[in-house]
Amino acid sequence: MKVYISVDMEGIGGVVSLSHVLSGSKEYERFRKWLTEEVLAVIEGAREAGATKITVADSHGGMTNILIEDLPENVEVVSGFPRPICMMHGIWEGYDTAFFIGYHARKGTRGAIMDHTIAGRIFRYIKINQKETSEFYLNALLAGFYNIPVSLLSGDAAICREAKTAIPGIEVVITKQGITRWSAKTKTLKSIKRELKEAAIRAIKKVRERKIKPLRIEDNIILELGFYSTDTADIVEMIPGAERVDGLTVVFKTKNILEAYKLIELAMIIGIGIDSLVQKMMK
Ligand SMILES: [Zn+2]
Repeated sequence: MKVYISVDMEGIGGVVSLSHVLSGSKEYERFRKWLTEEVLAVIEGAREAGATKITVADSHGGMTNILIEDLPENVEVVSGFPRPICMMHGIWEGYDTAFFIGYHARKGTRGAIMDHTIAGRIFRYIKINQKETSEFYLNALLAGFYNIPVSLLSGDAAICREAKTAIPGIEVVITKQGITRWSAKTKTLKSIKRELKEAAIRAIKKVRERKIKPLRIEDNIILELGFYSTDTADIVEMIPGAERVDGLTVVFKTKNILEAYKLIELAMIIGIGIDSLVQKMMK
């Protein structure tokens, strides 16, 4: 049983403030420790249920959040950014299931902690075949492309709701209930750790019994990227195949979800580059 664990941070228990998730901020060290503890609980559950290979993809911000020194032996960690297929790098290496830990809702979701999609300052939305997508949905489709079911998701109540609708039978662990974008009613680390361990055990059992199906989508996907600023769209439209629909919107006809994923990542990197160029102009 090979398990791939993609770990974001906004959906980790207790996290409600930017100072919790930005490297260098006052409380970041406290919450990266909390994040690592949640990952440890998931690993424990997965091992108890018979996982033989575990890969953890650190998937938030600079993607160096997990305290690797606190993890047990024989766990691989995908660390650092940029990297191709960022939150899911290496998923094609043959896994039986994927877990998404610390996930959050897409941009525009009410009562969801730090709702955003991939890069909060760059994308207003990302649409796959006209449906607005969350990071969960996109990553689950990519896992599905390799026939891998997502069997466990943890995060705030909003993303857990979406996951349960999209993937029947998925195990979810609600870490907190969002009140506003910056406030929540949260569970304690001790409760979350216990729930995560138990949910990981149940998830692997369901995977063994083939009770959870991979999330699949037909090939020939229309990818629509809604940007915040024309400056990013001005450059993204130079990618071969791009169609500039209006000032803020670029559309691609892509072969499959893997190609769409690569284009999203490329657009994000362009957005980050433009952002830093603009910052330089102000100096
Ligand atoms: Zn994040």
